[in-house]
Amino acid sequence: MTEPFVSAHDSFYIIKDWHEAVPGLVAGFSTKAGGVSTGDFASLNTGFHVNDRPEDVRANRVKVGRLLGLSAESWIGACQTHGNRIACVTGADSGKGALDYESSFSDTDGFYTEEKGILLTLVFADCVPLYFLSRKHKRVGTAHAGWKGTVLGIGASMVEQWKRDGIKPGEIEAVIGPSICQSCYKVDSRVIDKARQWLDDCYPLPFSPVAGEAGQFYLSLQELNKLILMKAGVPPENIRSTMQCTSCGAEFFSHRRDKGKTGRMLGFIGWKEGVST
Ligand SMILES: [Zn+2]
Repeated sequence: MTEPFVSAHDSFYIIKDWHEAVPGLVAGFSTKAGGVSTGDFASLNTGFHVNDRPEDVRANRVKVGRLLGLSAESWIGACQTHGNRIACVTGADSGKGALDYESSFSDTDGFYTEEKGILLTLVFADCVPLYFLSRKHKRVGTAHAGWKGTVLGIGASMVEQWKRDGIKPGEIEAVIGPSICQSCYKVDSRVIDKARQWLDDCYPLPFSPVAGEAGQFYLSLQELNKLILMKAGVPPENIRSTMQCTSCGAEFFSHRRDKGKTGRMLGFIGWKEGVST
């Protein structure tokens, strides 16, 4: 399977085939290169909540907005809490959480919209960014799925909310973005026990025991999310996963590798204004 994320600039990757096939769609993931933040946050930190200088985060966001052609004033951001709350947003929400943290959507880990001229954004450092598209309904969405959001089924929640609006799971395409890979992600049985609820008839399992360490496992959050989306009805051929690991990849911030003192990358998806679709 080909890698969905292709470098479009030092500072970000795009989901290339979506960009090519769907006019006006902007979707991708930033790197840590090309910003003004310093120290642990060098240099393109886009997270306000990590104790970086807010003016640096703002400058980084403004730069990414300029590069994407969707200015940071049009972004929508969240106070992410590893929950499964998903907000439907419109142009009226434009700018909330874009250039400060206080105006963000509180307790929110997913967004979707059908409106143009706004960019849905969430921030990541190892957690899994999920991207959703229904070409027919011109709807896009994104979710933040660390292990907690994943086992809460935030991916399935997105599909359920879209189903309520008449979108069939077979009309939904999903991309699983840059995040920590199975070899880098050791978890304990507490996490695995919660994952198992989604895995009754599943083989192979998306985790494996760590040799010589009782109760420890290597977990593929990407694969677990894929299985959860399939369980929600999205056909496997509609789901693609990246090969990019934020912990293996030196171009990314990694919460685990950097021992918690690090920046955040931006996952983003939206429609540009003024492009007929
Ligand atoms: Zn890795």
